[in-house]
Amino acid sequence: MASEARYAQMETFYNRCGRSGVRLPKISLGFWHNFGADAPFERSREITRYAFDRGIVHFDFANNYGMPFGSAEMTFGRLMDEDFRPYRDELFISTKAGYNMWPGLYGEWGSRKYLMASLDQSLRRMHLDYVDLFYSHRYDPETPIEETLQAMVDIVRSGKALYLGISNWPLEPLRKAVTYLRERDVPLLIYQGKLNMLDRGPIDTGILDFCHQEGIGFIAYSPLAQGLLSDRYLNGIPLDSRMAQNRYLKPERLTPELKEYLTRLGEQANSAGRTIAQEALHWVLEQRGVTSVLVGVSSVEQLEDNLKNRRFA
Ligand code: NDP
Repeated sequence: MASEARYAQMETFYNRCGRSGVRLPKISLGFWHNFGADAPFERSREITRYAFDRGIVHFDFANNYGMPFGSAEMTFGRLMDEDFRPYRDELFISTKAGYNMWPGLYGEWGSRKYLMASLDQSLRRMHLDYVDLFYSHRYDPETPIEETLQAMVDIVRSGKALYLGISNWPLEPLRKAVTYLRERDVPLLIYQGKLNMLDRGPIDTGILDFCHQEGIGFIAYSPLAQGLLSDRYLNGIPLDSRMAQNRYLKPERLTPELKEYLTRLGEQANSAGRTIAQEALHWVLEQRGVTSVLVGVSSVEQLEDNLKNRRFA
């Protein structure tokens, strides 16, 4: 049974997603790391249940999340069967296709063939009839943009996704996509891009402003720079950390300059009675046009920390 108090923060914890009928929690949960077959199932379950009990109704996936690829969606399929089926209509589930997923000619990028097959696979893994949001995970410069976008429109028409999103596309193709989708009455709901205090790409490229002006939501991924923007690495590299895995977060990132910056940030945050992670998430959420931040966590304690914010607590 989910907590009866899960929507206690209705007034402060949700933002409207662009000019749409959808509201999303300011903190959403990402399943890239910590939810695959390589993670303990009971911990994944505890985190997911804790999130939902606190009003986090948006869970974000991609075909290739988890190790091996696809296993985060499979974990969620099991959670749907065991815990979440009664709450399906309270959840906003996204998945994506774009990166390398299966061998051969049709397992990545932006062809109609790949996108359609990938979403069918995701639905089977997650034990769902439809996702709420389907993303193109990256821009494919070799496939005609119309092919990618028409496949996405047809996915919505088929009922397998309710809304469309775009992730990591540069501004110019994004502009074309917005026009194309609008003309077909399937307006782009949201853009997903990397935004944090150390990486301000969507601000510098104008993508965040563009989304704001066009009434498109923006959801920030890696808002803690994969954990760099926390107290995790203040005293070295913990053995159970993402950096210790040396795959997506390399120890080279931890330069003396960054260490100094983090130490200063930690002192400022602590003197205000906050943590670095809380300050970092607050910074992203304060940027004009940001709807939500997608956090990854490896424990309930981290999520608890991330949910402490001066605008909603
Ligand atoms: P974050 O920047 O939030 O990093 C998450 C990591 O930070 C955790 O695994 C944990 O590291 C550490 N952490 C989190 N909270 C705390 C805390 N309070 N104190 C200390 N450490 C903390 O996000 P991710 O990089 O994981 O990305 C989040 C989501 O964004 C993904 O799950 C995915 O849904 C999406 N994403 C989308 C991409 C795209 O191309 N569209 C690309 C990347 C992500 P540790 O594990 O070491 O404990």
